[in-house]
Amino acid sequence: MIYTPEKYKLPDKRMQAFIDADEIWHYINSVKSSKERVREVISASLEKKRLSLEETAILLNATDPDLIDEIKDGARQLKIKVYGERIVLFAPLYIGNLCINNCAYCGFKAKNKDIHRITLDNEQLITEAKALVDNGHKRLILVFGEHPKYTPEFIAESVKTVYGVKSKNGEIRRVNINAAPLDIDGFRTIADAKIGTYQVFQETYHAPTYDKVHLSGVKKNYEWRLTSLDRAQEAGIDDVGIGALFGLYDWRFEVLGLLRHVNHFEAVYNVGPHTISFPRIQFASQLNIDKSHLVSDNDFLRIVSILRLAVPYTGLILTAREPAHIRDEIMSFGVSQIDGGTKIEMGAYSKKDEIQQDIEKEQFRINDTRSLAEIIEELIDKKYIPSFCTACYRKGRTGEHFMEFSVPGFIKRFCSPNALLTLAEYLEDYASEEVKNKGYLLIQEKINELSKEYKTGVVQEKIELIKQGKRDIYF
Ligand code: SAM
Ligand code: SF4
Repeated sequence: MIYTPEKYKLPDKRMQAFIDADEIWHYINSVKSSKERVREVISASLEKKRLSLEETAILLNATDPDLIDEIKDGARQLKIKVYGERIVLFAPLYIGNLCINNCAYCGFKAKNKDIHRITLDNEQLITEAKALVDNGHKRLILVFGEHPKYTPEFIAESVKTVYGVKSKNGEIRRVNINAAPLDIDGFRTIADAKIGTYQVFQETYHAPTYDKVHLSGVKKNYEWRLTSLDRAQEAGIDDVGIGALFGLYDWRFEVLGLLRHVNHFEAVYNVGPHTISFPRIQFASQLNIDKSHLVSDNDFLRIVSILRLAVPYTGLILTAREPAHIRDEIMSFGVSQIDGGTKIEMGAYSKKDEIQQDIEKEQFRINDTRSLAEIIEELIDKKYIPSFCTACYRKGRTGEHFMEFSVPGFIKRFCSPNALLTLAEYLEDYASEEVKNKGYLLIQEKINELSKEYKTGVVQEKIELIKQGKRDIYF
């Protein structure tokens, strides 16, 4: 059964569309940017205040290169102030690419007969999950096309299967989902499987463009998609991820669309989305879009810095769609999660030999093909703390993301020590001797930085337990 909009009645006003294109254009066209105003807005953000649409438009309309540099510097400062040096790592796991929709930008579109269509069976899923566990991963996002086969029950079963995979000292501790919008009952089924975040990207917040690039299929309905995460909330999934696919329409409009979506969640549910993703269009089989809105590298850096300043408390996810040098640069502007060792061809994680990307087997081309081990080493070299932490979610500290920032000292007391503990686990179980040595030096450095009141000694004790073979210990 597929969940179509016709089968679903919006229960109340809260779930109706909240994007007003005229309002967004009004801000872009009428708000003037000046040095003074840009500085005021950056200061407000550094006070950890979520920016309004108008304040964000001041940043969007700043075109002077010096001012753009000030915006990037502001984002860098905010990142250190709010998030510290932690970078959370995850991997995408594509489960199936059957699809009934025709999204002009996507290789999996139904009418693309060149694509090899695959859905992993249970055994293949276990093999792939095990390969990821054996690489050191603890957090996955399962990705699905939209198809009657991928029912909520099917998705929930896949989640349970992945949670059930154990290999040596490892297991997957958090499973997120990127799949089609569901109705409330469907989301309830998923919630029961104890997922982490449910992500649905709006792709573009501009309804006429949305209509143009979604040629047919359920996904053509803009409002059904826009209100999907409200239905998730209604079903008890309060951990949701939003996103826009940059390159379909004017990027300034999309930034304000994302911000409006955040406001909506805050106003209605009292908590914003957990994460924002900002994929940029990549080459794909039968890619067929108007190229006039493709985003340059320079503008992409602006997008990320402005988003960082606009929503200080929302996680930002940067994926391997982007090449390593862009990822490295953008990370310092406030990205909190990246994927590592990503392979998006189905079944590829468990293949022994290195395989070349084949666009007929993938949704789009990725540009950062570094292994997880390489990424971890580079993060350590740059003094970032690679984190696989899943503690809050498993300790039942719900509204995790909210607590992270609202409880004073929470990051120092929980997030930073837990990041160090998960790094120690990684070093013990998966790292080369060289990386292990570098990693423990970093851990020591960071423990010394933790102030006494935040139990430096206890962190050290737990690290020793990990060295002795204990696993899965956290605050
Ligand atoms: N089928 C689900 C859906 O449409 O919601 C899952 C989406 S897809 C597997 C994950 C995301 O990849 C899409 O939401 C879209 O933003 C992004 N994407 C699709 N084609 C892309 C391309 N050519 N380049 C970069 N990102 C792309
Ligand atoms: Fe299908 Fe999602 Fe690709 Fe659209 S983006 S064709 S819905 S897999």
